Amino acid sequence: MSKDRSPSTPHRQSQGGKDYRKRVQRSKEAGAPAPQPASKPRTGNPSAKPAIILKTEREKSLQRRHPWIFSGAVECIDGAPASGDTVAVRDAAGSFLAWTAYNPDSQITARVWSWQEKEVIDKAFFHQRIANALAARRTLAVGQTGNGMRIVHGESDGLPGLIVDKYGEVLVMQLGSAGPEHWRETIADILQALCAPVCIYERSDSDGRELEGLPKRNGIVRGKLPEQVEVIENGLRFAVDVATGQKTGYYLDQRDNRALTGTLANDRDVLNCFCYTGGFSLYALRGGAKSVLSIDSSQEALQIAQTNVGLNGLDASKAEWQCADVFEALRKLRDQNRKFDLIVLDPPKFAPTAAFAEKASRAYKDINLLGFKLLRPGGLLFTYSCSGGISDDLFQKIIAGAALDAGVDAQIVKKLHAAPDHPVLLSFPEGAYLKGLVLRVAG
Ligand code: SAH
Repeated sequence: MSKDRSPSTPHRQSQGGKDYRKRVQRSKEAGAPAPQPASKPRTGNPSAKPAIILKTEREKSLQRRHPWIFSGAVECIDGAPASGDTVAVRDAAGSFLAWTAYNPDSQITARVWSWQEKEVIDKAFFHQRIANALAARRTLAVGQTGNGMRIVHGESDGLPGLIVDKYGEVLVMQLGSAGPEHWRETIADILQALCAPVCIYERSDSDGRELEGLPKRNGIVRGKLPEQVEVIENGLRFAVDVATGQKTGYYLDQRDNRALTGTLANDRDVLNCFCYTGGFSLYALRGGAKSVLSIDSSQEALQIAQTNVGLNGLDASKAEWQCADVFEALRKLRDQNRKFDLIVLDPPKFAPTAAFAEKASRAYKDINLLGFKLLRPGGLLFTYSCSGGISDDLFQKIIAGAALDAGVDAQIVKKLHAAPDHPVLLSFPEGAYLKGLVLRVAG
């Protein structure tokens, strides 16, 4: 992320010359209206006038279709757009690059809605994008494994900042940036029309909202929230607390990875760290695990996890639940000489951005080193990182270091990612936040 100036600092103005931004600047100084850019101005969009003018040579990432414009790339703003307004982005010579949602309060000054100059950013645009996202899920047959899925996955579905998760008849939307915040009512109307849910609930209360200068919001947007919300996944039922649970209430991204764990759990002693509402634990129990010890620091999540065991008629006597800090709990298990055949480590995001990578690396190494030590020979470690700031390569290196220090030889038997309802746009590698490795330690 660009750090060359704070989000609230006014954009610098250029110093004379012949290109577009300089003409804007000169006419402003003379008190005259800004000249029109060299390329044909569009007329279809009411917000056509404001424009973000990039510094020379700073259009490269946009030409590669990366959808973010960092504040450090901006030369000046033509006009006076408000947060969330649709604003054209132009290169230093005035050529159109993209239609974006503007946010003066963020390090990411704008996020791209469309690369087409003729596109109008209106209700029909959002309808089309959301309908496309739904069609993609149908093509991928995501809905065949249950009634929960991520319907809209932000940038990767062409809708930066917008997340929509479906739990049966309930939709949960999360507006993570100024663009979707501006179009909130329109988006809710479209979701209602296309999906006919009994409720649309808004969970715009992530910490990321503060970085965008947006207030946190949590509540019903349309309809009525049923007393119990449930998601069915590969035949397992999970209660979902959409109002106060983490993220939008459940972690749909791990669906396929949980199923894989279930197929490998038979007759094994399983340890599930950072278990939340028991996702991996329930699959392991159904898969015939001998025992499942699940650890999480959230008492609320553990309560739901135990409800979920009951909902599915699974053998509760095989399940042990611990409310604890995993870093401490793993040390205790080591000191007690406990051993497991299958361990899952699915921690929260230790590194939201690359700036946190070093500290996060130490945390990942710590838990994985302990995990390796707790495995019996031939045991399996399912280890994950959902940190945008940790690349696949770095994650693998951290795990290699952990195995070395634990004194075990281990093989990667599978690499894992988020389920297909969390697609990754090729031009937006940040979308590939979830990475996992299945490792087998030598027998
Ligand atoms: N594996 C889960 C999702 C895990 S989310 C699933 O499949 O649904 C990460 C979880 O880590 C959250 O439930 C959070 O409460 C828990 N957590 C965060 N920090 C923790 C810590 N230091 N010790 C134990 N649990 C922690």
